[in-house]
Amino acid sequence: MTGKAVFLDRDGTLMPDVGYPDDPESVELLPGVVEGLHACRYAGFRLAIISNQSGVGRGYFGPDTVAAVHQRLLDLLQAGGVSIDDSQYCLHAPEDRCTCRKPSPVMIQRSAAHLGIELAASFMIGDKPSDVEAGRRAGCHSILFAPGMDRVAEPGAAEFVADSWDAIADFIRATGAVRGHA
Ligand SMILES: [Zn+2]
Repeated sequence: MTGKAVFLDRDGTLMPDVGYPDDPESVELLPGVVEGLHACRYAGFRLAIISNQSGVGRGYFGPDTVAAVHQRLLDLLQAGGVSIDDSQYCLHAPEDRCTCRKPSPVMIQRSAAHLGIELAASFMIGDKPSDVEAGRRAGCHSILFAPGMDRVAEPGAAEFVADSWDAIADFIRATGAVRGHA
């Protein structure tokens, strides 16, 4: 377990949060995502998507729709030169009481085991308190992505609140170089 990773929420962090995304054609990347992920790569981090997609459990669409949206996102990232090492999706509804839905750390732990990642050297980035909490429970550092907000009332366990992907990239460059041992 010597690698380190940045675990990424998807909706609201990599792409706009539209509620229950079901249209691959409407997927787009948020500003600065490609540059930010390049910065993570350069600092030696592997990249993994950790996403709740309860639209399946709620019966709004099937897992094939999640797969199609996911593939479109991967294609857009790949076009920017960014490849994703692992992706973990929870397809359950909250009332399913599954073990994987964030803020559970299970998807992060599963991805870390798959990639051989040291969690204490890794980050979870997301726009919701459940992302920060999942990162905290997994033993990662957490970054709360809060675009357009220069102050957040409840950062929770987040070590850093970023209002842009530029800010995330700067933070990763600064801390990744110190903590890293990839
Ligand atoms: Zn689940």
